[in-house]
Amino acid sequence: METTKVDILAFGAHPDDVECSAAGVILKHIAMGRTVAIADLTAGETGNYGDAESRKHEAESASEILGIKYREQLGLPDGALENNETSRLKLIYAIRKYRPEIVLCNAVYDRHPDHAVAAKLAADACYLSGLKKKETFIDGVAQDAWRPKAVYHYVQDFLYRT
Ligand SMILES: [Zn+2]
Repeated sequence: METTKVDILAFGAHPDDVECSAAGVILKHIAMGRTVAIADLTAGETGNYGDAESRKHEAESASEILGIKYREQLGLPDGALENNETSRLKLIYAIRKYRPEIVLCNAVYDRHPDHAVAAKLAADACYLSGLKKKETFIDGVAQDAWRPKAVYHYVQDFLYRT
């Protein structure tokens, strides 16, 4: 049976966040034989450049260049991300699906308001994913609890809190 387990799961609020902020780390770990998945929280549909379709194509090309094993979009609203139960469940579902040892996610404080929300959302989902009584299902089958060993926030526009 094919497994979707990876070593690293990188979350990004928008389809280019991971590439722009963590591509070097990802390339280094892939070169060491580690596997990486990316989950984009939104399709980037409100961005000033391109649209959801063009950004999806760019994300697919970037994934191919980087050597990403799996990539998906979680369908949350760009420009209106919220750390609520619906959003948390989507991230928990992805964490339990990919069972990463390490999670990379957005900067805790940054220019785009989605980034900070995504940062807290990912960190919260990593904790909640480890709770056995927090149920999620894939094709009607309960997913096992899974808590990554570490969560790291990558740097984006702001290097320091101002
Ligand atoms: Zn972004």
